Amino acid sequence: MLDEQQIQILPEFIANQIAAGEVVQRPESVVKELVENSIDANATDIAVLIRQSGKQLIHIVDNGSGMSKPDVLVALKRHATSKIKSADDLHKIQTLGFRGEALASIASVANVEIRTTQQGAQHGWKLLAEPLKPEVLEPVQQEQGTQIFIRNLFYNIPARKKFLRSDITEFRHISDTMMKFALSHPTLHFTFHDGDSLIFDVKPDSLQNRIQQLFGDEVARSLVSVDYQDETVKIIGYVGKPNIARTTRASQFLFMNHRPIASKSLAHAIYQSYEHLIDKSQHPFFVLNIILDPTKVDVNVHPQKTEVKFEDERGMYASMQNAVMMALRSESLIPDIRFREQTATNPFEKLQYGKSDAQDVMMVNTLTGEIIDRKPSQNQVFTGSSHSGGGGMSYPKVQSQGLSPNTQQFDKTTAWNPSQMSAFDALFSQTEQPVQEQTQAQNVPERLIWQMHNKYIFIQTEDGLLIVDQHIAHERILYEKALRAMNEQYPYSQKLLFPVGIDVTPTEMVLYKELKDDLLQLGYTTSETSPAHIDITGVPLDIHAGEEASSLHEILEQYAEYQTVRPAESRDNLAASFGCRAAIKAGHKLNVPEMNVLMDDLFKCTTPEVCPHGRPVMIKFELKEFDRRFGRTS
Ligand code: ADP
Ligand code: MG
Repeated sequence: MLDEQQIQILPEFIANQIAAGEVVQRPESVVKELVENSIDANATDIAVLIRQSGKQLIHIVDNGSGMSKPDVLVALKRHATSKIKSADDLHKIQTLGFRGEALASIASVANVEIRTTQQGAQHGWKLLAEPLKPEVLEPVQQEQGTQIFIRNLFYNIPARKKFLRSDITEFRHISDTMMKFALSHPTLHFTFHDGDSLIFDVKPDSLQNRIQQLFGDEVARSLVSVDYQDETVKIIGYVGKPNIARTTRASQFLFMNHRPIASKSLAHAIYQSYEHLIDKSQHPFFVLNIILDPTKVDVNVHPQKTEVKFEDERGMYASMQNAVMMALRSESLIPDIRFREQTATNPFEKLQYGKSDAQDVMMVNTLTGEIIDRKPSQNQVFTGSSHSGGGGMSYPKVQSQGLSPNTQQFDKTTAWNPSQMSAFDALFSQTEQPVQEQTQAQNVPERLIWQMHNKYIFIQTEDGLLIVDQHIAHERILYEKALRAMNEQYPYSQKLLFPVGIDVTPTEMVLYKELKDDLLQLGYTTSETSPAHIDITGVPLDIHAGEEASSLHEILEQYAEYQTVRPAESRDNLAASFGCRAAIKAGHKLNVPEMNVLMDDLFKCTTPEVCPHGRPVMIKFELKEFDRRFGRTS
């Protein structure tokens, strides 16, 4: 229509709901915004209680400044903030909030009740707000501080509500955020309840003690203090010794001016410092706070974005690496630079371990102290087992339930039985006569099987070549075994002579409780001895001595990770986590009998071709393909 105005300014309520799409993505966002407000209000005591992972209720109580009557009336309006007044302030933000968007957004997607009292006031104010209804304000008697109740989150946005993940996933997001607050503000008192159960109650303390409260004694014992300063930045906190490195990044916390951040480049700097100290597949523990002049960073990014940009990205990288290196070096965990350079050309040294025989040598990595390879002398080849009395050579014994991580463990296991290999034999061009006696094992012709780069197994098959990824293959085997154990109810557990205790984080405890029955089916016999401690009295057979505690930690972590990416059936994820955790790694040298057992177990699987997450276990090449490529026409 000519001259008719089509464009309209959106009503404030709709604008708020649109903003809520960015600010309030899930219950965790509400918890984060509200606790940030309490911290900004200088509260020293902050209590959080959630029900049904925050979907039903999020309740925050603080002892901060409180709000006056005019302030509480305007607090739910869009762009209402007490934290910045001019554009200038934007460049030197000291508070966690400043956009004035959070309360307005939350109030557009939930019912909000605020009770707030200022210091010295006769009474406080209670404000009730429901989307699209007039607000109700009345006086209330209450101590200084603010209480906020958020009820029925997203009730008026069914699409968003449906989009939320399972309760446990939403809980995990909240609990991760609460951990971050507790670690970035150790001088504040936080209590965190999930319904009736107390998740944590941490009193004001040093960062070191707070880490101990949240992660337990073992972690606390394995901390290395970081206290670094150069012209531009201060980096303080703790990094973990290699013994508490984990298979996921769940225990890594990076803060900038007490605000959680993510930075791939800084994470890389930290990993660099751990080079040679931990395996590539492991992730170091760290809680580090970067203290920087607020004018040097831009926090005015997307409300949810944690990835930060530094003015001098390279300088920050170097500072971080220096900070962590110096800390690790002060504990003599890494040799000093000069020593490193001097030996860099040949970090390996031969050490003799036998008494007289010059052949009895082992290779030692002088940088890390690792023993690389134990090279037995000629007459020791294949005679390590106690059953190999028959003179000459015999195969070392291999355990039938998965592989041992090092050859020393062979002695403890049952004999390798070549007749077990029937399923696999079909693959070979020449099938051997079954061998009955172990003493005859030396007569088994060498199979056409070899390992490349301690990672891939090559096997000649009837019509070509098969290449198998050893880690993924073992993962598949253990995954199916774990599922069988859980579904058919025959756990394959070994009792521990001495129970092993582990400290767990609140999140791990919740996951543990959820998975306890399935873990039992899997072979973990456990009991919780306190809200942060679990005793392990039995573990699955595939778990090796010394790995009882770490395996359970890592299964819980891995499970949480899978659950976020792919919220599938819990048993399935648990089996996959177990498989991933307990499987032999790439880089692990296997001998021929070990490879054979692995292949045999693999072909007993119902789906040997792919790993639980769809990665291929093997690649096949047909002879015809080779013929074609070499221009042979057969
Ligand atoms: P922002 O934090 O960006 O200023 P919010 O929407 O989160 O915006 O909060 C709006 C205002 O409400 C804050 O600036 C603050 O003045 C007030 N406020 C919110 N929560 C509290 C609290 N717990 N204690 C005191 N004042 C609060
Ligand atoms: Mg805020």
